[in-house]
Amino acid sequence: MVKSKLVLGIIGGGQLGSMLATAAKKLKIKTIVLTDDLKAPAKNFCDEIIFSKYDRQKSIEDFARKVDVVTFEFENIPFKVLEYISRLKPVLPKPSINQIVQNRFTEKNFINNIGIKTTNYVLINNQFDISNNKDLLPGLLKTCTLGYDGKGQFVLENKDEASKLKIEFDKEQILEKKVNLKKEISVVITRFLNNDFVIYEPIENKHVDQILYRSIIPADINKDIFEKAQQQAKLIAEKLDYIGTMCVEYFIDEKNNLLVNEIAPRVHNSGHLTINTHNISQFENHIRAVCNLEKIELKKICNAEMINVIGNEIKNYRDKTYSKNEFFFDYMKLKIKEKRKMGHLTTTKL
Ligand code: AMP
Repeated sequence: MVKSKLVLGIIGGGQLGSMLATAAKKLKIKTIVLTDDLKAPAKNFCDEIIFSKYDRQKSIEDFARKVDVVTFEFENIPFKVLEYISRLKPVLPKPSINQIVQNRFTEKNFINNIGIKTTNYVLINNQFDISNNKDLLPGLLKTCTLGYDGKGQFVLENKDEASKLKIEFDKEQILEKKVNLKKEISVVITRFLNNDFVIYEPIENKHVDQILYRSIIPADINKDIFEKAQQQAKLIAEKLDYIGTMCVEYFIDEKNNLLVNEIAPRVHNSGHLTINTHNISQFENHIRAVCNLEKIELKKICNAEMINVIGNEIKNYRDKTYSKNEFFFDYMKLKIKEKRKMGHLTTTKL
C-alpha cells in the first residue's frame, strides 16, 4: 500500500483514541493526538501527541496546522473549542452535532422531534419540579451535561427520597422515568460523505452499576426489534448529517418497546468486538469516513462476546495466556483506578 500523505488529528487520548490511531496506522494514515492528560494511553499508539488544555489557543492552532482533518474520541469537548478548530480545518463529525448530543435534554428533544421514542423526561431546576412530576417516579435524575457511566445520576424511588438526597440544583438536570428493562442493545453505524453507510447488527449489552460490563452478538432479540433499531440509527445519522461512526444505545422494556437511551457521536465501547467479528471494525470505518476513503462492504466473520476489564481486575489478565479465539486488549493505562475501564477481552464464537 502507498503511504497516505493524510494526517488525522484526534482530540482525546484515551482507549478510543488509541484504537482509532491503531486503525489509522493500518491505513497508513498518520495520527496526531491532542490531549490534556499527560498519561494519555494513546501516546503508545499514535504518531505524535500534543499535550495541552483544550482551550489553549496556541496549542490548538499548532495542532490544526499540522493535520488535514480532525475528529474526536469523546463528545464533551467544549463546543467553542471544536467550533474554533473547524474554522481552521474540517472537523468530522461536525461540531453542531455535539452541541445537540452533549446535553441530555436537547438530545432527547431532537430524538422525539424526529419521531423516535425515548423514556419520558422533564427538565428539572428545583425540588418543586420533582414534586410536580410524580408520574416520572421511580426515575433517574441525571445532570444534563458531562455525566457518563452513571456519574452525576441519582435513582429516585419516590418524592420523599428526593427531598432526603443532597441534590445540587445549580446544574441543569433531567428527570427520566425509570424503564423496567428487559434488555439493552446498541447499534453502531458509520455514515460516509455521499450519504452512503455501513451498519452493524444490534449488540446486546449488560451493565453492572451503570457501567457496560458485557457486549454480545448476536443479540437475543426478535426480527422486528432488530430492523427497527437499525432503521432508527440510520434515521438519526441522516437527520444529524453525521459523518463517521456513531452509536445509538437503546432500552427494550418489558412490553418490548424500543426506546433510545442516548446517542454517542463517536466510536463506542459496545462496538469493540467489531475488531474481531467483522472485516472492517468500527474504528477503521470511522477513519475511512472522516478521511473520505473508500467504503468497503461490511462482512461478518463470526459472533463474539466482549467483557470490559475494570479496575484491579486488569492484574489477572495481564499475565494470562489466551486461546486462539480470545483477544485481550490492554489499554496501557498507568494508573489502576476503581471502576475505570482498563482493557477488554473479546472471545469469538462460531
Ligand atoms: P446512561 O449513563 O444514561 O447511559 O446510563 C447508564 C445505564 O444506567 C444504562 O445503560 C442503564 O443500564 C441504566 N439507566 C439509565 N437510565 C435509565 C432509565 N431511565 N431506566 C432504567 N435504567 C436506566
